[in-house]
Amino acid sequence: MSMLNLEYTYLNLPASFYSYTKPLRFQSPQLLIENEALLANLNIPQAYLNALISVDTDVKSVELSRAFSQAYAGHQFGHFTMLGDGRALVIGEIIKDTERYDLQLKGSGPSAYARRGDGKATAKAMLREYLISEAMHGLKIPTSRSIGVVATGETMMRERQEPAAVLGRIMKSHLRVGTFEYARYFLTTKDLEALLHYAVDRLYPRCRAAENMAIEFIVSVATNQFKLIAEWMRVGFIHGVMNTDNTALSGETFDYGPCAFMNQYHPKTVFSSIDTQGRYAFEQQGNIIQWNLVRLTEALLPLIEPDESRAIARAKTLIQSFDQEWAEIYNLSMAKKIGFNVADSTSKLLIAELLALMQLHEVDYTNTFAGLSHALPDSINPWNIPALRTWRKSWNETAEAQGYTMENRLQCMAAVNPVVIPRNHIVESLLSETGQWEANPEKKQRFQEALNIWSKPYFFDSNLIFWMTPPTQEDNIGHQTLCGT
Ligand code: AMP
Ligand code: MG
Repeated sequence: MSMLNLEYTYLNLPASFYSYTKPLRFQSPQLLIENEALLANLNIPQAYLNALISVDTDVKSVELSRAFSQAYAGHQFGHFTMLGDGRALVIGEIIKDTERYDLQLKGSGPSAYARRGDGKATAKAMLREYLISEAMHGLKIPTSRSIGVVATGETMMRERQEPAAVLGRIMKSHLRVGTFEYARYFLTTKDLEALLHYAVDRLYPRCRAAENMAIEFIVSVATNQFKLIAEWMRVGFIHGVMNTDNTALSGETFDYGPCAFMNQYHPKTVFSSIDTQGRYAFEQQGNIIQWNLVRLTEALLPLIEPDESRAIARAKTLIQSFDQEWAEIYNLSMAKKIGFNVADSTSKLLIAELLALMQLHEVDYTNTFAGLSHALPDSINPWNIPALRTWRKSWNETAEAQGYTMENRLQCMAAVNPVVIPRNHIVESLLSETGQWEANPEKKQRFQEALNIWSKPYFFDSNLIFWMTPPTQEDNIGHQTLCGT
C-alpha cells in the first residue's frame, strides 16, 4: 500500500476544533463499488478503502494516526444544536495539482461527537450518496465526489436489519456554516479568528487583502452558495436537509441524505419524510440559503467590527444585499433554460408564465425544458398541450424580436437543460437490488449502467427513453418517503 503523502492543515487549528478518531476494523470488508477513474486521478491505489477498515491492513499506521473528526454545531430545521462528525472522519488532505481535498470516511464507526449514535451507515444510504454525487458531478454541479463504498460485513438495526457500509469521499473542504457557529457559541473570539484565517487561506485567499476580511469572506461564501442553489434548481434538485451543518463554505453540494430530483413540476415539492413543514421544499431553497448565510454572518459579528453596534450595522447592510444577488443569479440561470443569456424583464416574464403553466398542467420539469431542444416521443412530450404550445409560439416570437435565433437558443440550452437526471424511482429500484449483487452480477451492472448514463446527462438519444420517463403515479407514491441512513 503506497503512502498518499497526506497533509493535515486542519490540525493547525486549536484542538477544540477536532478530535482524533480511527475507523473501526472489520474481518472481511467487501468492496461494493469503486470509482476507478477518480482514484487513478488522485493517485489513490485500488482497494484503499478496504485496507483502511480491514483488521489485517498493511496501511502504515502513520496514515491513520492523525485521522480526525471535525467539531461543529448547526441549526437543524431552525433549531441550534451541538453536532460534529458523529460517524465521519478525515483520513487526511490530499493534494491534486494545486487543489487540496479532504479525504473522508463516512460510516466508519462512532467518534467523540457520536452522542448516542452507532457511527454507522447503511450500505443503501452510502450507495445512494455515491450514485447521486457522481450524477451531480456529471451535471457539472459542484459536489463532494465518491471514491467508493465498502460493505463492512455487519448488519445493523434501522427500520429493519440492514447491511452496513463505509463511503469514501473527497471534497475541497468540509468546513461548513456550522463550523463558525460552533466557534462563535462554544469557543473564544480568538478561536473564531483562527477559523476565519484558516477558511480564508484554504478557500478564499483573495479575502486576505480585503478592507474587511470577515465581510469579504461572507460575500464570497454567499456568491458561491447562490450559484450552487441556482444550479440545483436548474436541474430540479431538492437537497432535503439544508441545515447549516450541511451548508459547505466551499459552495459544494454534500451530505446527500433524503435528496431527490423533482419529476412533475411543483414548487412545493418535498422528498424528505422528516421535512413535514416543507421548510426545504424546492422553491424554498433560495430563501433557506439566505437564512443560513444570516447565521454565518451572526457567527462572524465579532470579527466584522469589535464594536457590536457598528458590526451589526455593517452586517445588516450585507444581509440586505443577499436577496437581490440571489434573484440575479437565479433569474439568469432560469433565463438560460429558455435560451436567453440575460435576465431582463422579458425572460423573467417568459419563465414565470412557463412555470405557471407547468404547474397547472402537472408536467415533468426536466422533459419540459429538454423538449424545447429535442423531438421527444409523444409519451413523454409535454409540448402537445395547447397552452404550452401557445407559450412556445410567443417564446419564439419574442426571442426572434430580441435577436435570439433558434440556433443561439439551442446552443445555450444544450449546456443547461439535462436530458436525463437520476429519477428517484430508478434510484430506489437500483438500490433495492444492491443486496443481490453477489448472487446476480447483472444487477450490479445495471447500477454501473446508470452511473454511466448519468455521467453524460446533456446528450439526447432516442435510446434513453427509459431513463427519461417519469414515474407512474404508483411508482411515485411508493418512493415518496426515503428509507433510513
Ligand atoms: P446528517 O443529517 O447526516 O448531516 O447528520 C447530522 C448529524 O448527526 C451529524 O453530526 C452526524 O455526524 C450525526 N449522525 C448521523 N447519523 C449518525 C450515526 N449513525 N452515528 C453517529 N452520528 C450520526
Ligand atoms: Mg451532515
